[in-house]
Amino acid sequence: MRIAIDGPAGAGKSTVAKALAKRIGFIYVDTGAMYRAIGLYLMEKKLNLHDEAPLRKALDEVELDIGYEDGIQQVYLNGTNVTSKIRTEAAGSMASQVSALLPVREKLVEIQQELGRRADVVMDGRDIGTVVLPDAELKVYFTASSKVRAERRYRELVEKGIISTIEEVEADILARDYRDMHRKHSPLKQADDAILVDSSDMTISEVLQVMIKLVAERNPEVAKLL
Ligand code: C5P
Repeated sequence: MRIAIDGPAGAGKSTVAKALAKRIGFIYVDTGAMYRAIGLYLMEKKLNLHDEAPLRKALDEVELDIGYEDGIQQVYLNGTNVTSKIRTEAAGSMASQVSALLPVREKLVEIQQELGRRADVVMDGRDIGTVVLPDAELKVYFTASSKVRAERRYRELVEKGIISTIEEVEADILARDYRDMHRKHSPLKQADDAILVDSSDMTISEVLQVMIKLVAERNPEVAKLL
């Protein structure tokens, strides 16, 4: 079974997807982490991102691997574990810039589709229901007001000791959403057959309950486990 979760930054996708995958014994695939890792790689290479030949060459040369440690996804960039390094707002912004490039999307979508073929997955991102897993058995589109999303992101950053203001975080989120929704290739949008969940006034555990119910309705094996 494939579960596709899409939505804008800070809508609670990864928190819920991770908890859901753990609860039902699926693999969680965080596709944003892959764009973040490629963003880091391309920015460090200081390439002109719009020069297609060197971009494709750099993408051919990079080794991006996904692994799991205690069920938690790890991202390896040319053999180095970059899982913590890619969690900053700057890395999110870089990811949003490089994710607009077709060669980057082609490379990552192929890896993601292969992961979806190999296991039962909960995959989150921006184009999972529309492009990566168009035949997913369950598609959900998460959203929440930009204020609530900024507050959530701000709290996460404070916990990690990263200094910022709510206003800065909200401006960053809005800029990123605009770019993600208006890009030419695979823009962020709700798939026609996705269920909309607005989590502005919901706790994580409430959203998780909604998800478990949706999965159980579609998968009797999972329903038996609960
Ligand atoms: O989800 P996360 O905030 O880690 O994603 C970082 C960026 O990666 C997003 O803002 C978006 O530009 C890009 N992304 C994407 N397609 C996905 C996942 C992420 O374009 N499936």
